[in-house]
Order: sequence, then C-alpha cells, then structure tokens
Amino acid sequence: MPFCLQRCAYCDFASYALNALPEGLSFTSYADALIKEAGLAAGEHGSLRFTTIYIGGGTPSLMPLDELQRVVAAMREAFDVSRLKEFTLEANPDTLGRDKLRQWSELGVTRLSVGIQSLSDRSLRELGRSYSSGGALTAFYELADELSAFDLSFDLLLNVPWQKPLQVLDDIRTLYAFEPAHFSLYSLKVEPGTPLAMRVANEPGLAPDNDRFADEMNAAEELLEESGFARYEISNFARDGKWSLHNLTYWRGGDYLGLGVNATGCINSVRTRNHREFADYRAALSQDALPIAERTELSETERAFERLMLALRTTWGISRDAFAAGIWEKLQARAEELAARHPQLIVVAPGRIALTSGGMNVEHALVVELAEGVF
Ligand code: SF4
Repeated sequence: MPFCLQRCAYCDFASYALNALPEGLSFTSYADALIKEAGLAAGEHGSLRFTTIYIGGGTPSLMPLDELQRVVAAMREAFDVSRLKEFTLEANPDTLGRDKLRQWSELGVTRLSVGIQSLSDRSLRELGRSYSSGGALTAFYELADELSAFDLSFDLLLNVPWQKPLQVLDDIRTLYAFEPAHFSLYSLKVEPGTPLAMRVANEPGLAPDNDRFADEMNAAEELLEESGFARYEISNFARDGKWSLHNLTYWRGGDYLGLGVNATGCINSVRTRNHREFADYRAALSQDALPIAERTELSETERAFERLMLALRTTWGISRDAFAAGIWEKLQARAEELAARHPQLIVVAPGRIALTSGGMNVEHALVVELAEGVF
C-alpha cells in the first residue's frame, strides 16, 4: 500500500506521503485498482490457491478499515484462500489503535510486522520516522491486550550512525516486553537518490560501516538465541517455529503473486514487476490490462541459480530434490571443496547443503563460488 505519513530519509520504496499524493491516488482509488487487478490476475492465471497473504509496502496500517475490508473481500473472492495459514499486515507504531487492531483480527490478520526500526529518538528523527520511541512504547503498552492476538514481528535497523554501537541490543531487550515471535534485522542502506544518499555524500562519516554491521548482527544473534530465537534466514529470527511462512515460500522458490504499484510476482517461471508510478499502473488497469511493466521468462538454469541463491539464505539450505540431475552432483562437489577450506561457513550433509550462521554473513560470496562452473 503506497501510503506513508511522511517519507523516511533512507527509503526508495514506491510510496507517497499522505500530503503529497499524486493526482488521482486516494485510499479509495487504490482499493478500487487492487480489486480490479485481483480480478484480472485471477482471469489470467485461472484458479490460484494461496496459503499466505502479506499486505506490505508503504504503511498498510494507514488504510481505512472499510477500504481494507473491500480489498480483502475481493482477494477472498478472486483466489482460493480456504487453506490460509498466515495473514500478515505491516504496521508502523504510530498508526496502531484499539479498534483497528480488533478489526484487523476480525478480518483474519494473524501476524503484525511492526516497522519500529530503532528506539533511539535521535535515530528516529534523523531517519525521518514519524514517531518517537516513547510514543511507540506507550502505544505498545496501552494496546498490549489487543496486540497479543497477533504473532508480532519487529523490524530493527542495524548500522545506524546516529546511535551508539550495539544500541540494537537494548532495543531488543526492551521489545521483549511485548512478547514478539519474530525479529527482522537489516542494515541501513544508502539507496541512490534518497535524502540520506545526498547527506552521506556531504558527510562520508555517516556511511554504513561493514564491520559495525557484522558486530551488531553477531551480538544480536547471540542475544536472540539466548532467548530462544533461531536465526532461520540471513536477516530473520523466530521463536517457536514462528517463521514468516510467506517469505519462506519466496526463499524456497515457490510461486507468488504481487498486486499493487511496483509489486513483483513469479508464477510458472515468469517474473513480473508492476508499474512503479500510480498513473501508469492505473492507466493499464483502465484498459483492462494487467499493470505489468517488466515480464521476464526465466530459463531453467536461471530458476535453478535463483533457487540456490534464495534457499541458501535460510538455515535449511538447498536439497537434492530442488535440482535437476547433474546440477546437484556438481553443486555438491563444489560445496565439499568449499567446506574443506571453510568448515565454519558451509555444511554438506547427504542430499543437503546449508550455510552456517557465519556463512550467512557472506552468503553472496559463497553463492558465487558455489555456482562457478555449475550454471
Ligand atoms: S514508512 Fe516505510 S515505506 Fe514509508 S517512507 Fe518510511 S521506510 Fe519508506
């Protein structure tokens, strides 16, 4: 949902501040567009069955309930969601409310992914977030009963130059009070064209620091593991097996459908990306066409490489049955060579190759080495 209270300094997502919406974009027009797109997608693909729904991008928790209800009802009509296992909604702390939380639960939402990012007020201000740490924590305390109806996930940023190193550990400990099932930890990135990129160009000392990131990630992992959270993906930690099922589908190379501006999907080896600008997105729909800006048919080799790259992000790694005969044997031989040189980074078991936690920290380099001569 491409609506935000304000634009954060580091963000390059396709979203708009509420006071700067492009012509024609409103909650209602966007809900109308999503409903139309869902109908067209159902027509294009025939019957699609989904076990997870994820409403993300921008700040979906800003969407008025009646519009959200219309969109969800249209999804339920267009697609088979009779075996839904997980329904995630992304939310920002200052958009939560008692009624909203109750109604989201009634709508079927099972999981809330809360983009808290930091509990340092200086960082929140510099990052352009729209709330203070005190405001966020007060909201969580006041809404604790309603929040307990959901599996809670918190997003936190690492490598934020306006807070002390390892501040993330204090933030995690504070957030334990709300009994989260899941944390996602990401490095602050400097995306070209953002206000942060311009600022870093003038103040290079603010540029993200790889060593600091590694120290913070390792310390956070240790703390989280002591509290029963397992690192099941490069950036994600879950307690009691509360993985993000939606993202697991993606990391395991499953098909997924994306709806909305700039949404991506991949069905039957065809990867698509929707128009980024709302005007282009809506113009396509008004002609009864899917609003796809890019469509790429992946070859079997490309799919196999993607499967390798995505699955090695997870603790389960890759298994023999995901690859054609011939490819697996080559991968296994490469993995055994690598494991002999770096036993602390990669594990080779019968029919399975996985990265250790240390290996996940350098996943990209390991994938490049593994794939050499195989694809
Ligand atoms: S709230 Fe999220 S999507 Fe919106 S501007 Fe900030 S980082 Fe981007």
